[in-house]
Amino acid sequence: MIKVQNLTKKYGAFTAVDDISFDVGSGEIFAFLGPNGAGKSTTIKMLTTLVHPTSGTLAIDGHDPVRHPEQVRRTFGIVFQDPSLDDELTAWENMEFHGVLYDVPDALRRERIEQLLDFVDLSDRKDSLVKEFSGGMKRRLEIARGLLHHPKIIFLDEPTLGLDPQTRNHMWEYLKKLNESEGTTIFFTTHYMEEADKIAQRIAIIDHGKIIAVGTSADLQSQTGTKSLEEAFLALTGRTIRDEAASSKDMMRNMGKLWRR
Ligand code: ADP
Repeated sequence: MIKVQNLTKKYGAFTAVDDISFDVGSGEIFAFLGPNGAGKSTTIKMLTTLVHPTSGTLAIDGHDPVRHPEQVRRTFGIVFQDPSLDDELTAWENMEFHGVLYDVPDALRRERIEQLLDFVDLSDRKDSLVKEFSGGMKRRLEIARGLLHHPKIIFLDEPTLGLDPQTRNHMWEYLKKLNESEGTTIFFTTHYMEEADKIAQRIAIIDHGKIIAVGTSADLQSQTGTKSLEEAFLALTGRTIRDEAASSKDMMRNMGKLWRR
């Protein structure tokens, strides 16, 4: 479903994604983990047609995001860190707009919007303007919207950040159900190791733009002689997943590089 070969993205002299290759099978649940600034979002942006690669090849369900962005956009749904909802519309209108954009037929669209708003516990707020929503409510609506056109692949970039544990569990349950019933491929990043451990069938670890390990959680643990995914991650990257200090050092270094360009 996803094929990535020797993919590289440079911003000026700085290499954000450095010659990575991996495949994700149809119907697979795949986690993409790495410390802040590792290149996860840049990779997702290339997979989803938002950023052009500097070099390498990509295929999403057999289509090249650079040459056939329209075909690629039809295959996936996306949930980003930054909400992209229209604040001046209601929850229902945001869903409706998305459904029309993706040609979901009228009756089916209404049915799914109802189901999905119910799933994210927003049914009773369906007619409220999104600008009145809390951050967590917006994220839940964003997730519901990403699922509306039943895409073959769903990309989720830290979908559960800032959500309470109950909503997080609920969300993964729904995604798993979707994966089982529709065979939807799921590609996600998270800062919660236990989520990756519990949900992902395979995990790739990226650091400084390079993929340093791919496998099941058990594979990564046996590779590193550790007893949890968290320990394996630490052994592989030398950092915790939320290494803010390292990340701001990276940022300063990048700024220096850009400045000297
Ligand atoms: P992650 O999602 O793993 O936190 P990103 O893919 O957002 O990492 O960023 C990878 C690196 O590329 C970071 O060092 C970041 O500062 C840099 N980067 C991302 N986008 C840009 C850009 N538009 N211009 C310059 N540098 C960028």
